[in-house]
Amino acid sequence: MLKIYNTLKRQKEEFIPLKEKEVSMYTCGPTVYDFFHIGNARSFINADFVRRYLEYSGYKVKFIMNLTDIDDKIIRRANAEDRSAESVATEYSKAFLEDIKHLNVKKATLYPKATHHMGEIIEMIEKLVQKGIAYATDDGVYYNVEKFPGYGKLSGKNTEDLQEGARVEVNELKQSPLDFALWKKAKPGEPFWPSPWGDGRPGWHIECSAMSCKHLGETFDIHTGGSDLVFPHHENEIAQSEAATGKPFVRYWMHYGFLNIDNEKMSKSLGNFKTARDMFSTYSAESIRFLFAQRHYTAPLDFTEQSIQSAATGLQRLQNLFERLTTLLSAKTNGETPELSFKDYEKAFSDAMDDDFNSPKAMGVLFDFVSEVNQALVKHESPSLQFVKKAHGFIKKTAGGVFGILKIQAKESGNPELEDKLIGLMLTLRTEMKLKKDFQTADLIRNELQKLGIVLQDSKDGTTFKKQ
Ligand SMILES: [Zn+2]
Repeated sequence: MLKIYNTLKRQKEEFIPLKEKEVSMYTCGPTVYDFFHIGNARSFINADFVRRYLEYSGYKVKFIMNLTDIDDKIIRRANAEDRSAESVATEYSKAFLEDIKHLNVKKATLYPKATHHMGEIIEMIEKLVQKGIAYATDDGVYYNVEKFPGYGKLSGKNTEDLQEGARVEVNELKQSPLDFALWKKAKPGEPFWPSPWGDGRPGWHIECSAMSCKHLGETFDIHTGGSDLVFPHHENEIAQSEAATGKPFVRYWMHYGFLNIDNEKMSKSLGNFKTARDMFSTYSAESIRFLFAQRHYTAPLDFTEQSIQSAATGLQRLQNLFERLTTLLSAKTNGETPELSFKDYEKAFSDAMDDDFNSPKAMGVLFDFVSEVNQALVKHESPSLQFVKKAHGFIKKTAGGVFGILKIQAKESGNPELEDKLIGLMLTLRTEMKLKKDFQTADLIRNELQKLGIVLQDSKDGTTFKKQ
């Protein structure tokens, strides 16, 4: 039975999805004005672990991650670089998708963009205005926090404390300093969309409310994000969605811990700011993912040279065994079956992950398994094929499937169609050489292909090939 720590209830709860064996899940995606940093990477990868484990457990997951492609930060960058906000957003949306792919994060069911959902966003704001929860001013539309009694239930803050704590903002158009913008009227030179309240653009919070509602419904199962998003972003999402629909918004809220660099908060001013992309030349995606998996998602994580190095070393042990098993698998060994209870390992792995995705514990199970299989292989150099298949399968399903930390995946997901076309091209070249009586080059092609396990067969109808 899967239990999830629900930020909203401040306790672990049994996970019961709305629909049997199906999960609707939303994660706040990036604002596409720059490359994302390694702290963001932790959120994206943790969401990926959750999604992959749900799939491993037999759920069908609809996974939505939005792209905020219009925002003050995007406009600022566009102005500084004398280009359009759209070109900034397009460039960094592309970079985002490349980087999460590099990090082996499974593709979302959909990456909805804010600028493609202006209709839904405006419709939701209209509902809030009609219900008297939002009000229009000279510079936009604001949400009246006082009108939503549940405000503060996610972050555990009450409005009086927040009022006191909130710095008195210069904006006198707002009825209360806590009120937040749903729609911002465009200033000269800013991109805008038409609305009943004048040309402008949406606030950040309403984008997530409108897009999650459109793609997952008014109530859905899991919403995740970094713990820095609890307040105000997620608190405001709840206020908007629940006030607009009159229904509970999200059933399980999950938040990921911070990532520090050398025990310090990452910041541009401290000079320890690292984008995920900066890391790619030094560390493998698998090591980064493995480092993250070794820490529970709610706990803070300290990223140091030493921690990532030791992750890489640990991972190599797992990788070595997996490659050895892959070799044994193709050698079709046929010896004795070592004694090992696969069922116990499978159960221990699931028990760990079912306990609020306790990945460090699950990693412990996986490495106990690696040790035991390694020991078995000392005694039985060529064990039974059945044993090899099971051991290979367990590592592939858990380390590969749930955590995405096996290197072999890239190799296995090759492109056989392209391969065949390239071999065909080599054959055409070889025929050309023969016609030109350059038999030396023709033989070179044949011999080199043979070294790669591709055997050519000449006949009077032409040349065919066989992969060995
Ligand atoms: Zn969001």
